This record gives sequence, C-alpha cells and structure tokens, in this order.
Amino acid sequence: MSHLLDYDYLFKVIMMGDSGVGKSNLVTRFTRDEFHADSRATIGVEFASRLVKMPDGKTVKIQIWDTAGQERYKAITSAHYRGAVGALVVYDISKHASFLNVKMWLEELRHELCTDQRIVLMLVGNKSDLIHLRAVATEEAMGFAKANNMSFIETSALDSSNVDAAFQTTVEEIYRVVSVNAL
Ligand code: GDP
Ligand code: MG
Repeated sequence: MSHLLDYDYLFKVIMMGDSGVGKSNLVTRFTRDEFHADSRATIGVEFASRLVKMPDGKTVKIQIWDTAGQERYKAITSAHYRGAVGALVVYDISKHASFLNVKMWLEELRHELCTDQRIVLMLVGNKSDLIHLRAVATEEAMGFAKANNMSFIETSALDSSNVDAAFQTTVEEIYRVVSVNAL
C-alpha cells in the first residue's frame, strides 16, 4: 500500500436510472448505513466514497457519483460519465416502467462514453422488500442483463439486503478488468 494514500486504486462509479428508484438511498446505505424515507431531490451531483477490500488484500476507494434530481429532466451532464469505470443501472422492482427505461439509460451511456472507454455494468433491481408489489420478474431482468453483458442483483436500500454486494461485486469486476489490462 502507498505511504501517501490509504488506498491502492481509485475507481469512479456512477449511479443511473429513473428518478425515485432508490439510487440515492443505495448510496447512503452503502457509504453511511443510512436510509431516508423522504426524497430530498436537490439539483446537482452528489458524491460519496467508501474503501473496499479486494480478494487479494488491495484497497480500492470507490468514488460514487449520484445524480440529484436532474435525471428527471434527462439533463445529466457529460461530466457525470467522464472517467467512469463502473455504472449501477437501477430500476424499481415494483415499477415496470423503470425497468423498461433501463434500455434508454444504456443508450444514453453508449452515447456519452468514449469509444475506447470500458465500463463494468451492474443491473440493480431495487426495493426487493416490496414483494407484494413486484412488477418485474427476477428471470426477466436476469435475461436482460445477460443479453446486455451486465451483472445483475436485486437489492433493498430499506432493509440493506444485497446493497454491499451490489457495490462490492461491481468493484471486484472493475478490479479484474484493470488487472488484466495492466498485464
Ligand atoms: P432516487 O431518485 O433514485 O435517488 O431515489 P431515492 O433514493 O430518493 O428514493 C426514492 C423513494 O424510494 C424514497 O421515498 C425512498 O425512501 C424510497 N426507497 C428507496 N429505496 C427503497 C427500498 O429499497 N425499498 C423501499 N420500500 N423504498 C425505497
Ligand atoms: Mg436521488
């Protein structure tokens, strides 16, 4: 480990997906173990970070760029995407429209990324606690993820289920890609 920094690698990971699917609560659950029942959609980008350990003991600082309401107006600036090596594309398992819109978010991503920019994609079906309101079948989302070269996980920012795993798996995959490219 470096003597100057408390981490070995710094990865920028971005949050994407419709407004209201739980992006900000996934971030606050992962970085501060907090959940907010009210949506506080202020305009502007919010950042958060957390250190995570890789299987070989190296430390990665994951710098998460959240959107803060501008996704409602499809007004996300290019700065959000610049330099990102991972993206969590989130939908709400109780809102089918938010799942259909994942396609649109992927198109936006392809449009914004440089042609040589490789990005690790994680499809996140959030609000898994709302079982009685489920509108997107796990198998359907799994099939979509496979067809689009994404990993897939269902999470609940409310009851914490799989939240750490969603970020940890994404970062470990980025780490694998980076290690292979560094050889
Ligand atoms: P964002 O617009 O994608 O950032 O979504 P927010 O994080 O602001 O969440 C939108 C609303 O959904 C808020 O009222 C949250 O309390 C709620 N919410 C977020 N995650 C979950 C979850 O996992 N389960 C449930 N039941 N509600 C959630
Ligand atoms: Mg938000």
